[in-house]
Amino acid sequence: MTTDTGRARRPAVDGWFTLDGEPALLGSRCTGCGTYAFPAQEGLCRNPECTCTDHTRTPLSRHGTIWSYTDARYQPPAPFVAPDPYAPFAIAAVELATEQMVVLGQMVAGVGTDELRVGMPVELVVDTLYADPESGDDVVVWKWKPTGSTSGSTAGGTPGGGDRGA
Ligand SMILES: [Zn+2]
Repeated sequence: MTTDTGRARRPAVDGWFTLDGEPALLGSRCTGCGTYAFPAQEGLCRNPECTCTDHTRTPLSRHGTIWSYTDARYQPPAPFVAPDPYAPFAIAAVELATEQMVVLGQMVAGVGTDELRVGMPVELVVDTLYADPESGDDVVVWKWKPTGSTSGSTAGGTPGGGDRGA
């Protein structure tokens, strides 16, 4: 696969997400109790009440809402992948629409914490993390991008605070 720059794209972590079409994280779902996991679970189910060890690989929701966020001023530990050299960026913990599981991810470039709020809808994109100086490949990772549809829809939302408009 190549980008319009002609460079090959290579995932920063193998098997954690897809690159083609509409990218998606690759997780797993327990065949016994239905518990989702990301990254994909191997061995015993995460559900302490489940003894199943059989998990089906499955793409996860591409959409979710911000559950929490922070400014990453210090390089986060593995397996989170940070650019090199390190530069501060916003990280969001996003609750996936279907799985209701929280997945940490970097926000796309140009979106700072001052633009984020809890409950903001986001979608998953795959974006370049850095260019590998040895192979020349673009090393890519998943990131969260605001969908922009922040107004006009209150379906399923929780009631807001009091009306304080003047
Ligand atoms: Zn299970």
